Amino acid sequence: MLCQLNISHRYKSINFDLRKKKISLLIFHYTETNDLAEAIKLLTAKKRKVSCHYLIDTNGLIYNLVDESKRAWHAGESMWKRSKDINSRSIGIEIVYPGEFVRKKYKKKQIESLIKLSLYLKKKYKILNQNILGHSDIAPKRKIDPGIFFPWEVLNKSSIGLWTKKRLDNSDLNKESIKLFLKNLQKLGYPYLKINNNINFNKSVIENFHRHHLPYMVKSKPNGTSLNKTIDLLKKSID
Ligand SMILES: [Zn+2]
Repeated sequence: MLCQLNISHRYKSINFDLRKKKISLLIFHYTETNDLAEAIKLLTAKKRKVSCHYLIDTNGLIYNLVDESKRAWHAGESMWKRSKDINSRSIGIEIVYPGEFVRKKYKKKQIESLIKLSLYLKKKYKILNQNILGHSDIAPKRKIDPGIFFPWEVLNKSSIGLWTKKRLDNSDLNKESIKLFLKNLQKLGYPYLKINNNINFNKSVIENFHRHHLPYMVKSKPNGTSLNKTIDLLKKSID
């Protein structure tokens, strides 16, 4: 059962336009700001041309900045499963958080609110778990948010997003298995990949796959554990 959602309409952003597609994705971000005031300033300034639908403060309060029916500007140059214009296809949620480099946990109250809001949106727009993503998944060459401390596993326990237990295999990947690994990433939806046996060319995408699904491996070369993860995630994807 959904608990009641408390949403504030105190602040609004003028940075939006018309949606051209049906809503099918939910995208999580961090603000990379120290507090709410700084985030509001950023997400409402005409000059910056950025916004999101929802913003969650450190105390768990949820602010609606752009109406869900409108196209907020949070995704930028991005893609998923060969689809572009992610802004038209998604609801964007920003969380007040200073950034991965600060190495801080997200606040418990923020995550509780994020779970409530995500469940509400998932049900309302029939969003599939495999379409609940981080900015780093859809823009892997430019972005790292919501970062390695984002609790994907906790969210999955509330039926939000895809998650599988890791199957450890620390062996290196040979050329063929690197190709298979990259193909699997592409099937999952990761963009900007070149399917060859070149890890370096695809480095930022691999790093962001790890950041989401195997955060302890974010700076490591992909190995058997990484490949196993793609296989298990694909089994859980609906299409
Ligand atoms: Zn972002």
